[in-house]
Amino acid sequence: MQTKMPVLFIGHGSPLNIILDNDFTRSLSELGRRLPRPKAVLVISAHWLADGTYVGCMGRPKTIHDFYGFPRELYRMAYSSPGSPDEARFVTQLVRKVPVKCSLEWGLDHGAWAILKHLYPQADIPVFEMSLDYTFNDWRPKPIQYHYDLAKELADLRNRGVLIIGSGNIVHNLGLLDFSNIEADPVPWAREFDEQVKERLLSGNDPDLIRYASLGRSSSLAVPTLDHYLPMIYAVALREKNDPLTFTHEGFQYASISMRCFQIG
Ligand code: ZN
Repeated sequence: MQTKMPVLFIGHGSPLNIILDNDFTRSLSELGRRLPRPKAVLVISAHWLADGTYVGCMGRPKTIHDFYGFPRELYRMAYSSPGSPDEARFVTQLVRKVPVKCSLEWGLDHGAWAILKHLYPQADIPVFEMSLDYTFNDWRPKPIQYHYDLAKELADLRNRGVLIIGSGNIVHNLGLLDFSNIEADPVPWAREFDEQVKERLLSGNDPDLIRYASLGRSSSLAVPTLDHYLPMIYAVALREKNDPLTFTHEGFQYASISMRCFQIG
């Protein structure tokens, strides 16, 4: 019998975390040691925005250094886990509501490998990514409900031993960052929105999380674009009745990035 895998949401924050030893990165190492060993890992990353939904079907996904202006050593690092073409192809069959296509083009962006470096430092578990459909109709992105419904179709992966990870940030406004200090105290609107989301996560109020703009005036500052918020929606959509939700890390980076992480199941 395969153990039913939990689902994670990880607030990945700065690419600097790849080489930092802090409360956040230690929480990832601890999770990697504590969780049942997955057959494969599926990461839904804020950094793979595509004109549709794709899964990475390559046997050896390449490490993508999709960040700029960071220390040179980050660009020399790689995360050389195998891919999981079998599980990726399974997903293309599993999801019925929308077409999911195989991609051989992408690889592992930093939304995936920056956290996997700490979760599974041996890089010995197969990893594949799924893109976020970021197409616009009449200048509007796909509604959050669309992503929520799509995520629900991934539920069977948990029974197959696949660890699903949404990788983004609940509060993420690059335009309002205080880049001078990664450990700066959070600004009030960032803390306020993070608290609002925390309450809804604890009470299992998915409709409020989907209608996040109704959570008050902090929402437009906290979620100026959907890219980093959506991976959390994928995680909560996969919560089943009786699944506990526990916060594995909370905090902020650069005063306005919520590093809140949670485990479902
Ligand atoms: Zn990011």
